[in-house]
Amino acid sequence: MIDGRSRRYLIETWGCQMNQHDTEKMAGILAGLGYVPTADDREADVILLNTCSIREKAESKVYGRLGRLRRLKMANPDLFIGVVGCVAQQVGQGIFSRAPFVNLVMGPRNLSRLGELIEEARREGRSIGLARDDDPIEFPFGTMARASGPKAFVTVMEGCNKSCTYCIVPFTRGREVYRPATEIMAEVTQLAQEGYREVEFLGQNVNAYHHEGSDLASLLRMADRIPGIRRVRFTTSHPGHLKRTIMDSFRDVPTVCNHLHLPAQSGSDRVLKAMNRGYTRSKYVSKLEFMRRSVPGMAFSTDLIVGFPGEGPRDFGETLQLMRDIEFDQVYAFAYSPRPGTEAARLEAIVPREAQQERLGELLSLQESIQTRRNRTLMGQVFEVLVDGVGRLDNGLLRGRTRCNRIVHFPGPAQRGVLIDVRITRAQPHSLLGEVLPNSRPA
Ligand code: SAM
Ligand code: SF4
Repeated sequence: MIDGRSRRYLIETWGCQMNQHDTEKMAGILAGLGYVPTADDREADVILLNTCSIREKAESKVYGRLGRLRRLKMANPDLFIGVVGCVAQQVGQGIFSRAPFVNLVMGPRNLSRLGELIEEARREGRSIGLARDDDPIEFPFGTMARASGPKAFVTVMEGCNKSCTYCIVPFTRGREVYRPATEIMAEVTQLAQEGYREVEFLGQNVNAYHHEGSDLASLLRMADRIPGIRRVRFTTSHPGHLKRTIMDSFRDVPTVCNHLHLPAQSGSDRVLKAMNRGYTRSKYVSKLEFMRRSVPGMAFSTDLIVGFPGEGPRDFGETLQLMRDIEFDQVYAFAYSPRPGTEAARLEAIVPREAQQERLGELLSLQESIQTRRNRTLMGQVFEVLVDGVGRLDNGLLRGRTRCNRIVHFPGPAQRGVLIDVRITRAQPHSLLGEVLPNSRPA
């Protein structure tokens, strides 16, 4: 308490679902220490920046934000500022040199030490918690303050043992560590009892999960048996670890949703090799084709990097061709960004920024036409939708997701967290509009 009021915290989050979930964990710790959330940085006693270093732009945003926070700190010297997450792990002590007013630097493997590190920094002025590979990843799930409903994220593993030549994640999140299946299922059971209908298993390389005889396919089967759980997803998968048993789960395990995010990164074998991805275009394509044949309405999304060093017009053309061949339901495309310490950062055949941007534009416009066409084929079809709440558009419509992960807007009184049937009445490239079926009984 300060002046008879509770201390307030603000956590700003950049990056992937793992970071979003890490924020839920830190929010839980702060709540346990008596802090309450605020959205106003001028009111906060503690501000944590949960950072992402996957691309240079994400990292520079953190420094931009710190520049503004410096002014707040000058006005209020008691303000506690922490830089946490991947930039913290990557830059370490260097954060204090760039921003001496920062009180805490903490990597993503040290979350459970947050309370202790805040305490230490309050005593000593500063504290730092950087991860080692053998740091435990256990986190008491009862302490999380989940913000992600109606879907709940569940960490199944941390870290990544791959060495994609462009990627900083193995440096910031360390080697792979897996949670025991019994612990994961205890968390899922608890979530079901709290009313969550959908869970998403998280890991940077989630389909490499293995622990004491269990793999991802066994986790999916176990979660399917937990009463109350209606939908299970997992992210992010690596094409090399997409075993037959996991592919079969989409067909055989009723709660596993018919959508897979499977980053391809490029359609060119030459570039895939330079990226050290460990698969060829044809291996990637054959897995998707197999699932499309065996699972009705199977949807795919992917990540693509354009302008990787040495990517020529022909390689880029092969990426466009992959998009035409597969017709992904969604694509997340990024201009290659060199990251410190990675192998690709030493490559010389750099693709100029203008060429990267031009390729990115071409790729996104192709995807827009593919999505428009694909979404139009869904007109008139009925989908089970899990209601998220009111959409971001200012039109009063509700928003939800289909099992194939499409966003649907629709009018109606349904409540957040219920499952209802919606008929698609209009298709846009990035979302669908629909109407709730009159006889749809919320589940
Ligand atoms: N583990 C996942 C995988 O194997 O694809 C994804 C990890 S990363 C958080 C998410 C995406 O960021 C990657 O799939 C990749 O497309 C992109 N990415 C990673 N490093 C990048 C870089 N140096 N420049 C541009 N995009 C990058
Ligand atoms: Fe990065 Fe590759 Fe690991 Fe994904 S699999 S996190 S892209 S190193």
